[in-house]
Amino acid sequence: MAGSETLGFKVKSVSHFLKHLKELGERLLPVFKKKVRYEMNQFVAAAIVSHKEIENEDISIIYEANRKLDVACENLSDIVQDSCFSFNRLVVLMNTTKPARHGEARLFDPDVKIRKEILGIRAIGLMDDNNTNFLDNLKSMFANDFKTKRLPYIMCIFSHNIPCTEQSHQCAKIIDEFA
Ligand SMILES: [Zn+2]
Repeated sequence: MAGSETLGFKVKSVSHFLKHLKELGERLLPVFKKKVRYEMNQFVAAAIVSHKEIENEDISIIYEANRKLDVACENLSDIVQDSCFSFNRLVVLMNTTKPARHGEARLFDPDVKIRKEILGIRAIGLMDDNNTNFLDNLKSMFANDFKTKRLPYIMCIFSHNIPCTEQSHQCAKIIDEFA
C-alpha cells in the first residue's frame, strides 16, 4: 500500500479491503485465462480509496465491481479486454506472456521511465504501454467520485503472487520506486 502521507490505520481495516480486492481478482482469473492459450496466473488488483473508506472498512467500490460481474453473468468475457478489468477507481491487471508485461508495470510504469532508471540500457526494447494510463484513469475516477482533486487518497494494491524480481520486469522495485 502506498499513501500520499504517513497514515495510522488499523492493519485490520487495510487487510479487510485487500482481502476483498484479492477475491475480486481471483473471481476474474478464470475469465482472463479462457482468453489466452498460455498459463496465466498472476495479477495485480488496485484501487484508489479515501481515508474514510479504509477507516470505516467501506468496500462498496468492490461490491459494485462484483455486482457488475454478477450482471454480466455469462458474458463476463466481454467485460475484460486486453487482460484487464476496469471498474471506476479499481482495476485488475493480468500479467501477460505475449506481450511480456506485468501488472505492476502496466499500472505504475506505463512509459518505462522507472524501469529505465532501474535497468539502464537493459530497459531498451521494453514495452511502452502508454496508450492506457491506468493510474491516471484511477485518479481521475477518484476525483470524479469525490468531486475534488484535493482529497488525499490511498492506493491499495494486491499482487498475486508477490511482485516479481525478474530481471526484465522488476515489479517489486517499481512499486518501491513509485512509492
Ligand atoms: Zn512482475
